[in-house]
Parts: sequence; structure tokens; C-alpha cells
Amino acid sequence: MNWNLTPLFKTPEDFKAAFDEVSSYIPRLASFKGKLNEERSFIEYLLLSDEVELLGGRVYQYCSLKSDLNKKNIENAAELSKVFALFNQLGIATSFEGPELISIGEETILGFIDKHPEVSHFRFSMEKLFRSQEHVLDGASERLLSYFSPVSRGGSSLYTALSTADKSGVTIKLKDKSTVVVNTSNFTALLENAKDPSDRKKIFEAVYKHYELHKNTFAGIYEQVLNSGKAYAKARNYSSILESHLFNNNIPTSVYHNLVNVASKQNKALKKYLKLRKQYLGLKSYHTYDRFLNFVNSDVKYTYEEGREIFFKSIAHLPEEFIEYAHEAVRDGYVDVLPQDGKRTGAYSSSVTDTHPFILLNYTEGLDDVFTLAHEAGHSIHSLYAMNNQHGNNQNYTIFVAEIASTFNEHMLLDYFIKSGDTSKEVKIQLIQKAIDSIISTFYRQTLFAHYELLAHEKVEKDEPINYEVLSNIMVDLYKKYYGLDIKKEGYKEFVWAYIPHLFSTPFYVYQYATSFAASFKIYQDVSNGVEGAFERYTGLLKSGGSKYPIDQAKEAGVDFTKKETFMAVIDRMNTLVDELEKLLSE
Ligand SMILES: [Zn+2]
Repeated sequence: MNWNLTPLFKTPEDFKAAFDEVSSYIPRLASFKGKLNEERSFIEYLLLSDEVELLGGRVYQYCSLKSDLNKKNIENAAELSKVFALFNQLGIATSFEGPELISIGEETILGFIDKHPEVSHFRFSMEKLFRSQEHVLDGASERLLSYFSPVSRGGSSLYTALSTADKSGVTIKLKDKSTVVVNTSNFTALLENAKDPSDRKKIFEAVYKHYELHKNTFAGIYEQVLNSGKAYAKARNYSSILESHLFNNNIPTSVYHNLVNVASKQNKALKKYLKLRKQYLGLKSYHTYDRFLNFVNSDVKYTYEEGREIFFKSIAHLPEEFIEYAHEAVRDGYVDVLPQDGKRTGAYSSSVTDTHPFILLNYTEGLDDVFTLAHEAGHSIHSLYAMNNQHGNNQNYTIFVAEIASTFNEHMLLDYFIKSGDTSKEVKIQLIQKAIDSIISTFYRQTLFAHYELLAHEKVEKDEPINYEVLSNIMVDLYKKYYGLDIKKEGYKEFVWAYIPHLFSTPFYVYQYATSFAASFKIYQDVSNGVEGAFERYTGLLKSGGSKYPIDQAKEAGVDFTKKETFMAVIDRMNTLVDELEKLLSE
């Protein structure tokens, strides 16, 4: 039930020794400056980079996992910031690399690589480097920029401090006179189980009050994130901040616009669903926080062991190799299961080069927790496939394809529940709601946030002022557009932009939940319909790790993001499900 970090380092002393060893690479790597045009030095340099990536990855992983187990532990946080400082020094010491390689030229560099199979896994990253040539500056400018990289992370760390470290649970009294401490990790479970509208309001406000109270500070932090994105995009000659974020993965900005266009316009079924909910749940008015209410209330609990068994069963019909990876992904010691005070909220799977991935959960035995387990196991399965089929830096798949593996597992799990459960009307309703809710939360909701980021960044690009009112107004408009809901009536909901960590820590990230969802949906359909070679094409994507551009990986797996149809498959599914639900409810 708890992580065992000894596969990373047996003792804290081993960790310290590794930390020092990584430091020792700094002068060694720096000594190659001006020598990369010699074939032997170049190859040596790459092999050294491999070593430092391997060891540095483990140092980071150890520290970061430890710190996530207790965010309130100041020692852990200090250790982690030491690791970041170390990486920053490494970055400065090797900042000559890009400009120097570019001045040597693509032909020579790729020629060196092709003569040395031991570094062939660097070919793709070198191709990427030369593609980015127009955005790499001269040596002095790169060095200057590297000094500012800790400053550019400022927004993200301030956000974490204000939203996590400086936030404590709020005690509220419910209608039945019981008291409960609301925090971000039990928030949704409490909302789901609160039958009384006034209780839900209290629970919601207990969490959101914090964002309202600090709205000016949160907006100021976000402005810092926007401005740093703008400075970076300008310094590197991108035509927009959006382009600067999509460029590295070679994703056309049209994919982003295509997604936002489809989701913001194709929402008839979404609005119909909300109407059904309001009517069927007997709500006087519908609030966004009512989205956790179930049509059918099942108090079925799944212990972690049961949840894991169900997950295994849901993929039992797939090829042996996949099943083995799934068992490996959730092996004891690699999953930290239960919530605890100070532990990072939410869930993730984290992996670094040549190291078994780790999963963090905050498992509370609900149906959703089983889905989260399957989701995170999907990421770990992906990492294990990549680890066993790629070398070094080619193992690191992009976020763009990451959510394909995780949501593929969710589709499988849902399928299993629908087919294996007793097919009583109640169970059917529960599962269809689950399917619809996952389309809303993964596709519509994330695209709405992606749409918000796009509009906020466009504002800062046009030098328009950024403050909490501006940010809230964007959200208010988008909720009207997507959901047909007026969140102004919900008091604090307009500060939802301050509630989403990704918007602060990794701009232009969340759209990938939606694109991945659409992709995994298409792949899942192909696999379930027994389309010849579909599963092999899918595992081909998993095996390829980060060795290709994600847009090409998806295409090879049968998904074309530049086509509207890819996203329309999700919309069609939504339409069918809502009609089905309506029929069941009226029977
Ligand atoms: Zn995920």
C-alpha cells in the first residue's frame, strides 16, 4: 500500500552520493565546449549525457516522490529545490550544446551519429534540434536566457505555495449537525454524497472560498505565468505563445483550434444531459458542483485489492504481454494507495529513464477510484513498454500521447463493468452516467480550460490588462457557451481558473486530455470491433515511447487530429449515450 523507494536508492546516504556524483558531471560536460565538432568528443559527450540523465532522473524521482508524500515537510521541499538548482546548473553548463551543434551543422552531426550505433537513440532529438534552429539563439543569448529559467518557474512555485502549502482544511457543520473537515482531496467525495443542496453549497464554498479570498494574488501569479510565456515566445521568435508550446512536439496550432471549435459548438447533447440531471435529480437550480451527484446511488465500495482485481479482469482478453505489463505496473511497492495529511492530492504515474514507474493515488474505495487506478496503470504500462523497447531519452513519451494509454484502460474498464455487471436498470443507468461524465470531464471540461488558456494568452499578447475580473469573465462566458450555465450565480465558481494547478504549472497542457481521449476512443473502437492489426498498432504506439513526433505516432495508430471527424466520434458517442439514458430514465 506504500511506496518502497529502495529500488531508487537503498539509503539516504546513497541518494546524497548520487547527488554529488551528478554535480561532478557539471565540469566534465562543460569541458566539451568547443570540441563537439570532433567525432570522438561528440560521441563521448552524448554517452556522458546518457549517464547523467539516468542518474539525474533517479535523483529527481527519489526527491520528488518523497516530497509528494508530505508537502508540509520543509526538509523534503528544501531537498527538492536543491535538485532543481542542480539541474539548473547542469542546464547552464551545457547551454553551449544547442548553438554549438547548430553551428557545426545537421549533415555533420547526423553523419557522426549514423557511424555510431551506440548513440543512434540521439538521432531523433538531434533532428528535433535542427528543426528548432530558427528558435535557438546565439551562445551568449542562450546563456543569458538560462539565468532566467528559475525566474520563469516562479509563478508555478508561488502557486503551489498559496494553493497547497498555505491552505488548510476548513471545518464545516452539516445539516445533520455533524462536522467535517473539507480539503481538496475529500472535496469531490463529500459533494457526491451530500444529499442536501445547502450542504453541497457549504462544501463547495469551503474549498473555493480560498480562491476568492486570494483572488488578487492568484491573478497576479497567473499574470506572471502569462508574461513569462510571452517573454519566452518573443525571445525565441515564435509567432504566438500557443505556437511556442506546440512547436517542440510539432503539433500544428490548427489541431488546437480544431478541438476548441468542435467542443465549443457541438454541445447539444451536453446541454440536454444537464437538463435531464436537473429534472431527474429534482434540483431547483443546477450548479456545477452538482455534477458529482449520481442518478442512482450505489454505496458499493471496492477495496484497493478488489479494485485491482477488477482492473485485471477488464483487460484479461487482451494479449498476454499487455497483461503482464499491467501486473508489473501495480506491483506492491510501486503504488502509494491511501490519502494522508500533507500528501499531494489527486493521482499520477511518474517515470524516469530505465526505472520502474511509480503510481500515487488517494484511494477512497469508490467506483471512481477504480477508474483512477486503471488510468494511472495505463501510464505505467506505457512507460514499461517504452522502457523495454527504447533507449535513453527516447523512452520519454510526450504528454500528448500519454493520456491515450490511460484513457484506453478506462474504456476497457467501463466495458467490463457494463458487460459483466448484472444488467439491472439501475446498474445500467449508473454506468451510462459514468460514461457520459467521463466524456464531459475529459473532453468538454478540459477543452473549456484549454479554451480559457488560449483566450487569456491572447489577451496578454495584445497587452490587455490581466486581473481577476478579466480572468473570471472569460470563465463565465465559456461556461455559458459550453454548458449553458451561469456560474456568476454560484458565487465563488468564477474563480475556477485559480483552482486548476495545470493552468499555472504547465500552460497549454490540458487540451491534451481531450485530444488523447478522442484518440484512445478511436483506438478502443477499432480494437473492440476487431479491426485487423488494431491492437498491434496500439502497442506499436506504446513501444515507440518518445522516439517520434506524437502526431505521427497517433497517425500510425489510426488517428488523424487534423480532421474534424476524429473529435466528432466523441460527440456522436455522447449523443447516443444521452439518448439511451433518457430512454432508461423515462421507462
Ligand atoms: Zn493521466
